[in-house]
Parts: sequence; C-alpha cells; structure tokens
Amino acid sequence: MVRKILPLVVVVFACWLALFAQPDFKQIERDREPDLKPTWYFFDWAAKAPYAPVFHVLDTESSLGRYAKRTKAITLKDLVKFHGHLCDGLVTAAVALNLGFKVLYPEGVIDRTDTGCVTNNSPCFGDVAAYLTGGRIRFGTQKIDPKMGNEFILYRFSTREAVHIAMKPGVFPDELAQLEKKIRSGNFSPADIDRCQKMQWDFARKVLNTPPEQLFTVKKLPDFDWKPDEYPNRGVRGDILLKNAP
Ligand SMILES: [Zn+2]
Repeated sequence: MVRKILPLVVVVFACWLALFAQPDFKQIERDREPDLKPTWYFFDWAAKAPYAPVFHVLDTESSLGRYAKRTKAITLKDLVKFHGHLCDGLVTAAVALNLGFKVLYPEGVIDRTDTGCVTNNSPCFGDVAAYLTGGRIRFGTQKIDPKMGNEFILYRFSTREAVHIAMKPGVFPDELAQLEKKIRSGNFSPADIDRCQKMQWDFARKVLNTPPEQLFTVKKLPDFDWKPDEYPNRGVRGDILLKNAP
C-alpha cells in the first residue's frame, strides 16, 4: 500500500512546490561571459550590434534536480547554432521576445522551467521561442498559432501572466515581403535567392541597430487562458518537478 501511495505523494508534493515556491532571482549568480566571437555563421555586424540581446536563463541542475544557482548567458550566436542559420526571423524573434521577457521577468532572469510561448509555425520564430523559454510542444508548454504574423505571446505559468509582442506596421520592408512571396510561389530565379538573402540580412542588421521599442509594441494580456495544443504523446516534464525541493 505504502509503495503504491509514495510515488503519488512525491508527485503531489513536487507539483505543490513547483506552483507555490519561486527562486530568488536576486540571489542567483549571472554568467557574465557570453561567447560573441564572430565566425563564418555569425557575422561581425551581429556580434557588435548595439541592440543584440544577451539572455540569462535559469534551469534545473539535473533530470530530477533542483534549481541551478547560476544562470546561463545565451547570445544570438547560440540561437544560430540551434536554429541553423543567422536570419532576419531569428533576429526579429530574439529582439521581440527580449521585450516580453522584461515584462514577465523584471529581475532579468528567464525561468525556463516556468515559461510558455506561442508563435506562428515559421521555423525561425518557433525555434527561437522554444530555445529561450524552454517551452516544448511535447509538454504542452509551446503553442503554434498559424494565424499569427510577426508577433509572439509569452506566458509565465506560475503567475498566469501573458505578454503579447508585435512588430509595428510598416517596419517589415514591403519589397522583401513581396520577394519572399515570389520565391515561395516557386516562380523565381537563382538571383532572387541571393537578393532575398541580402535583403533579409540588411533587415536583421537594421533591427539590431534600432531601439527595439521603435519596432515592436508590447502589451499584457490579462484575460489570456493557456490551453495546450493537442498532441497525442504529451507527457509530464519530469526535470522540473523537484526544482524547489529542499
Ligand atoms: Zn531562420
């Protein structure tokens, strides 16, 4: 009997801890040496841009571990390694999400055990949001809304706060939007690919050299209700259950 009940008690206790205890963000030591060295996949202009964000994220220490006592610094370069390339979508998502994180985590540390994200299904937006928030489709903490445009929603599970970040109208170059549409339609020349790539990098560069508040709107969503997307193999994320264990 005790053998049967004990695991249940542990899970209930862990869930209670996860819901009601919070890390002391002010006491957590920050990793201050992010890798920003340019290389073939991470350009000089991105490494040195004035508005290139550096994120500090908090995780657990092991698969059944507690909160770590230090954060990790994540740069655009790290995002490129995960996503596969430096593109305007990666830069847009990073800068936009950084504005949202400032609302959800004013202390400056992103709790990747406690954050969900909603984006459209572009490879770039979804990758960056998942990496920075720790949200995953398979745990019901990442959502995809194909109707969304150049916009993002961040959600903090413990406080039920949601933030919406959207690119302002007129910021994304119309000429680039038309060219991307043409290429996706299949009716394009090899030169179009080169021109599109250059225009995307020019736009990414502009985003990293403009105060982010000029490019995006940020607003809280007080009535936002988090409902996980349907996914048949959804499971419990075990590596955060004991984050607050003594
Ligand atoms: Zn991309």
